[in-house]
Amino acid sequence: MESKCIAVVGAGVNGVSIATASAAMGHSVTLYDARMPFAETSNASSRMLHGGIRYLEQGHIGLVREALLERDEWQQFSPDATRVERFYFPVFADSPRGKWVLFAGTLLYQWLAGRFSVGRSQLHSASDIQATFPNLVSHGLQGGASYCDVVMEYELLAQQLVSEAIDKGVTLKNETSVKKISTCGEVLVNDGSVKFDRVVNATGPWAARLLEHSGIESEYTIEHVRGSHLILNYSLDHALVLQAPDDRRIIFVIPLNAKQVLLGTTEEQHDLTKPIVCSDAETRYLLAILNRYLRDPIDTSAIESTFSGVRPIVRKRKDTLGDMSAASRDSEIEVYDRLVNVFGGKWTSARHLGNEVAKLL
Ligand SMILES: Cc1cc2nc3c(=O)[nH]c(=O)nc-3n(C[C@H](O)[C@H](O)[C@H](O)COP(=O)(O)OP(=O)(O)OC[C@H]3O[C@@H](n4cnc5c(N)ncnc54)[C@H](O)[C@@H]3O)c2cc1C
Repeated sequence: MESKCIAVVGAGVNGVSIATASAAMGHSVTLYDARMPFAETSNASSRMLHGGIRYLEQGHIGLVREALLERDEWQQFSPDATRVERFYFPVFADSPRGKWVLFAGTLLYQWLAGRFSVGRSQLHSASDIQATFPNLVSHGLQGGASYCDVVMEYELLAQQLVSEAIDKGVTLKNETSVKKISTCGEVLVNDGSVKFDRVVNATGPWAARLLEHSGIESEYTIEHVRGSHLILNYSLDHALVLQAPDDRRIIFVIPLNAKQVLLGTTEEQHDLTKPIVCSDAETRYLLAILNRYLRDPIDTSAIESTFSGVRPIVRKRKDTLGDMSAASRDSEIEVYDRLVNVFGGKWTSARHLGNEVAKLL
């Protein structure tokens, strides 16, 4: 195979994975980022390497199964930066989904993982749930269901991915904003234009904007949906999945360590020209859902920090804007001559995406 000079623009999990896979195939790869690797969306995920149990409700069976296999690959790639966590769905009188429906969903999730399952799904009585989570209210508690999934130790995994890229020979150009790209392989940065055999636009939420600035029309566009998380000084032994009675959304409460949990996430339309931060309304929304079910509600003094990211949700231009929760987090790859555009994706699917794009190159 002929070795090529490749520019990858954007060093989030997608860009780093594409760069590494391309370098592993013998190409000479330069990876540009306006900031640093993992400075944006990839730094703001819910930290799950998962099939996405909630997509089952929308019938995305194939997508979930594929992601469950990818989950296994992450475990093999980094046993020390991944851990299995049991997620409990407590069911209350006001919960939109009953415990049998949830149990059926968790069983399907386990079954779809097949031999890559990381633990059995279980049905729980109210007393079971109460014993596991003594801090939950007992009023209206009807029991629940639980399933196992994989959570990443984010900082360690990001570090391992960057080290892997460097080991494979990828040249990192941090703090180098790319002003324009072209379909004939040009990358315009502050100190001039550089010519490559191939250019990959992996700028996540900024992918459509970079194309616009470059005067390139794409078949795809991106909807920007902000998701915010709170890191709370609060202790839980296992992860909780709470159902918001008003909008049917599910909110995760994931232990980060013995003293802190991650609470999220939200879904708000986001204007990319505005700062990506957690609004007061999002903070209130998340705390209200958690507090609804806590014996001793917590207030904002329990918030250690907040962080937000923008989901790049890809749509064909001709599609109309729909329900954000119902849109899948699938990705699209578009090739224009020497330019490859990557839209969407998830942390979980990034290594697969990386290999797929590298093969195309
Ligand atoms: C709230 C939230 C929760 C999520 N939870 C999960 C989860 O639990 N599990 C999961 O699998 N996925 C999750 N995701 C999805 C996943 O985090 C993202 O899909 C993924 O991180 C996107 O990575 P990316 O590399 O495409 O984008 P990014 O990480 O945003 O990387 C793009 C990079 O491009 C750079 N860039 C932009 N413009 C330019 C330019 N002109 N020149 C140079 N560089 C540029 C940016 O600085 C940035 O570093 C979540 C997403 C959000 C928002």
